Amino acid sequence: MESWDFWVGFSIWAASVRTGRVSARFGALCAQAKLGNVSEARSLPVAEVPQVKKPNLIKSKQSGSDPKAQIGQVTLSDCLACSGCVTSAETVLLQEQSGDEFLKRAETSPLTVVSISAEARTSIAAHNGEGPLLTLRRIGEGLRRLGADLVLEASAAEAVALLEGQAEFTQRFRSAVGGSTGSRNGSNGFSRSGGKSTAGKLPLLTSHCPGWTLYAEKVVDPVVLPHLTPVRPPQHVQGRLVKTALLEAVNRRRFYRWWRARSPFFAAGYWIQSLLKEEEPPVLLKPSDVYHVFVQPCYDRKIEAARPSFEVPGVSGVKEVDTVLTASELLSLLRNAGDGCCGSCGVHACEKTELSKIPPCPLQSEVLTDVFLGSLEARVSPLICAVRNNAGSGGFLEHVFREAARELFHLDLPSAPLALQTKQNEDMREVILRDPQSQEVLLRFTAAYGFRNIQNVIRRITKGSSGDGKDIGHFVEIMACPGGCLNGGGQIAPEKKPVEEDPDTKASSQVVRRQRLQNLEQTLAEGDGTAYVHPSEHPLVLPIYRYIVSQASGFPVSTAEPTSSSRVPRGSELRCFFRFRAVRLNPRPAHKCFA
Ligand code: SF4
Repeated sequence: MESWDFWVGFSIWAASVRTGRVSARFGALCAQAKLGNVSEARSLPVAEVPQVKKPNLIKSKQSGSDPKAQIGQVTLSDCLACSGCVTSAETVLLQEQSGDEFLKRAETSPLTVVSISAEARTSIAAHNGEGPLLTLRRIGEGLRRLGADLVLEASAAEAVALLEGQAEFTQRFRSAVGGSTGSRNGSNGFSRSGGKSTAGKLPLLTSHCPGWTLYAEKVVDPVVLPHLTPVRPPQHVQGRLVKTALLEAVNRRRFYRWWRARSPFFAAGYWIQSLLKEEEPPVLLKPSDVYHVFVQPCYDRKIEAARPSFEVPGVSGVKEVDTVLTASELLSLLRNAGDGCCGSCGVHACEKTELSKIPPCPLQSEVLTDVFLGSLEARVSPLICAVRNNAGSGGFLEHVFREAARELFHLDLPSAPLALQTKQNEDMREVILRDPQSQEVLLRFTAAYGFRNIQNVIRRITKGSSGDGKDIGHFVEIMACPGGCLNGGGQIAPEKKPVEEDPDTKASSQVVRRQRLQNLEQTLAEGDGTAYVHPSEHPLVLPIYRYIVSQASGFPVSTAEPTSSSRVPRGSELRCFFRFRAVRLNPRPAHKCFA
């Protein structure tokens, strides 16, 4: 992009804009510029694809008394943690967050981008019986046929969220212990929480699960809120990057392609021609032109995407993530993208059309890419997992524990899985770091999954013997779903085998569930095309920090600039990008079952 012909072209374009002598035909020429697979995607007959009729969130059955009436069935697993129950506002939200909406907007939006979380990708891969990379490539091709321009994986956003979570914890820990392991406000004196009220508040509770965060904001004692980490969840690190960094990269590419479509040797001729014919300059896309869809493991992410704090700054009403689809919703959507039918009924896009019938998208194509339009093929590995173990719910406990041991106590832990001890039940686990000499407890981290264990944590924080939650430890990874995100409500449910054929009938359901989650976690961390890369060494992390610093400072910084150090920049200019704070919402009494 920095070749001489690009800058010559850019100067000519800028000059033509300044003169104001541009014409509509110029815009038509831009539209004809070769956009590779992106334009091919648009040329497909998307309108002919059968539309998905219902988001299929709430199942219904015929009423026995009134043949015209349907009885809706809502279970707790359908709960969106909203403050009402299927009011008109929720109905609008469900319509906005459905497969129907995706098909409609993908057809009309100038740029449709789909991000796919690692958990959702893993669930679809397990259902499909193929590796995660092959599955991602099939999904990429299927979405391209349905109108998507770009399909992104989200490992860089996950790595950035892990690094920010680590920085928040070490800063709070140092504040809490009064400098025995470092300076009071951390090495740079900057409180990432942005205020005194949360300095040293331990235990630090993760906030990347919207099911838990919404519950905390609406139901639990307000004294708990300052314990929530103010770091944005990965969905909205990615969302902000898509509507800023990716958008800029797409605009640069569009202009570059338009320019390269005309030989630089005839640049002067084209310039004169464009002035004479009053041609329009290339149209640059705005954040509102980008339709961003995120595929996630649960429905609560839809509510998270609708939060006013997750809008693009300076552009009122433009969300960072426009639509969230679950893994199961994506799978039913992709049934419309298959090459043919299941082979028995002769109907294109029939119910039984399998994802495996969609040919994989080539890795070197421009559909599968990252937030800087880089190639997945050029990386150390196309898919990256930022933690070696316990990655199924983001890996915050695993990453922060290891890094805190290293940074605060200069202890390097072996790469073997952390020794998590099961406490009250298998969804309540704990890991402890002890001083090698004195055996004194240095760090105590807890994983609390499911609302039963969340209640336990809240009780211990608010009514603990010391009143400061010390007995729960220093850090709690809280997830609303028992089993974590790999077991989320929007994941594809495992096929139920007939009882007589099921070899696991003798095993308890917990053992079966644990085995299934272990298999999913192994697929996520070690599946085909996946490699472990420490978050600070992720190939996109340094470019992302450089981009944010350049945006905050107003000076362009090359995102591709080589570096000899993997240390990421730190400073107050990062605060506004990563900050997110849980706030007290319309309180309501706790549900009976939690009392
Ligand atoms: S734990 Fe469940 S509710 Fe929370 S983010 Fe994961 S899938 Fe969603």
